[in-house]
Amino acid sequence: MTLRRIQDLVAAGLVEPERAAALERVASRYAVAVTPAMAALVESPGDPIGRQFVPSEGELAITPEERLDPIGDAAHEAVPGLVHRYPDRVLLKPHHACAVYCRFCFRREQVGPGGAALDARSLERALDYIRARPAIWEVILSGGDPLLLSPRRLKALIGKLDEIPHLGSIRIHTRVPVVAPERVSAAALAAEKAVWVVLHVNHARELSEEARRAIGKLVRAGIPLLAQTVLLKGVNDDPDTLEALFRALVALRVKPYYLHHPDLAPGTASFRGTIEAGQAAMRALRGRLSGIAQPTYVLDIPGGYGKVPVGPVYLADGIVEDPWGGKHSLNPEGASSSGCGTSSARASTGTKDAATGATRSRRSR
Ligand code: SF4
Repeated sequence: MTLRRIQDLVAAGLVEPERAAALERVASRYAVAVTPAMAALVESPGDPIGRQFVPSEGELAITPEERLDPIGDAAHEAVPGLVHRYPDRVLLKPHHACAVYCRFCFRREQVGPGGAALDARSLERALDYIRARPAIWEVILSGGDPLLLSPRRLKALIGKLDEIPHLGSIRIHTRVPVVAPERVSAAALAAEKAVWVVLHVNHARELSEEARRAIGKLVRAGIPLLAQTVLLKGVNDDPDTLEALFRALVALRVKPYYLHHPDLAPGTASFRGTIEAGQAAMRALRGRLSGIAQPTYVLDIPGGYGKVPVGPVYLADGIVEDPWGGKHSLNPEGASSSGCGTSSARASTGTKDAATGATRSRRSR
């Protein structure tokens, strides 16, 4: 049974009894849910799984830069439940419930068991908005977790989107295959159009046997799978942990898509590191991890200005840096004109460039 009350967490040994009163205040502000699949993986409340789902007292400390709507959904809400931020795609939020409530959630002010689902009329209004705009090419179902809809409702919604001629892609963002794998039904996702599933997963330990089987069901149904990960302090903010996750995902036929810098959601400061530290982690992975296992590190610009890659940057002022830190000058067409010296350890595994005399490192693509 999903643990939803602080006393459930105490009974399960995930929270010390003496913290219960303080955590009740947290739970009265932000929803709590830890599914059996995730509770089974928590070894201690401070481990990488526990930190994501077990509430902590620090969530009531709001820093000045934090925002109720960190990525500015409200400013782009065209009709209830539909966010139109980019010309060619919309976000459709059929309801606000999730299987788990992540303590760092960027929509924590909106999601929760009490959050209203779109009623039939509002959903039809949102679909009419899409039908009337041929420039919309993709619909992203998010929320709340769309895979918490009953298979019948999900199938009906996908069926209606499938009938809209100008749509090329239906994308579903979900945590369900990982946190509640027993709920996955590939049949509900069947469509003529491309249906993409983007898994939210932050640590290789989340990929239990059951989660792997659920992902396998989607793979065998021919559904292309991507993964998005949030870079979280104390959970996955080191290159070794990220490498293990990205390798595990690719081996399951899931392409790591985005590594998100955490958003400025209220009470989530303990999860946020610096962008510089995130860039350093990505830089460390560049030379040692296959390109298909590397996501793009992105930031949703606070206030609703969209999502952009935030590096690291390898080319500046005509100097390009190789995956091991060696510097090479480039002419404007991208031809290497000379080596500018290389960094130590990995450079020693490289070969000498006959023309320039610079050490060239091995490349992986
Ligand atoms: S599953 Fe997604 S929307 Fe739901 S609480 Fe976690 S991060 Fe937020």
